[in-house]
Amino acid sequence: MTSEMQSIPATGSAELQKLLILADEEIARQIINRQHLYWAKARVRLFERKELHMCRRSGCRNQVAGKNIFTLCESHLRGWERDWFQEQIEGNTNWMKSECSEESDPVVRQVNIIRRDRTLELVRQNVQLKERLLSEAYKLIEDHDSKGYERYVFLPNTFRLDLNQRWEMLIAATGVQFVDPYDEEEESQS
Ligand SMILES: [Zn+2]
Repeated sequence: MTSEMQSIPATGSAELQKLLILADEEIARQIINRQHLYWAKARVRLFERKELHMCRRSGCRNQVAGKNIFTLCESHLRGWERDWFQEQIEGNTNWMKSECSEESDPVVRQVNIIRRDRTLELVRQNVQLKERLLSEAYKLIEDHDSKGYERYVFLPNTFRLDLNQRWEMLIAATGVQFVDPYDEEEESQS
């Protein structure tokens, strides 16, 4: 009995402090995982309902600046994207032809062609990035569902429910909130 008592770290001991920090780290990890899942669901919902994308900057929940060629919201656009945004190249297909066809000087014309091709390449990268973010979001949701199913199958019911409930209490106690602007939008519309 004495040896069992000794194996429990004393209150205020360095060992106990270490365990408490590890426990807090685990709670933090759980919260971040949940946030990722939560926003993956929002990303998918936004796309499936409105064919719109959510900003790719981690932690940003805004919609991207346009419908087709942007991966970031207006406040996170990179320099050249800001130029595109101001020039309103999105939805305007003429910019691809006009610069090259109207120029008579062959050198300027060549420079314009190179510039246009560079823009097209950046646009192509953005489109690929959007598709990748969306498929990563789908994968995250799928992985979460299958892990949940695994726990349902392999863990005793009482233990699993008890554990879930304790996690809920711990997470709620941190004061973290999961607020989805797209859900609010849905409610106000209905
Ligand atoms: Zn953003």
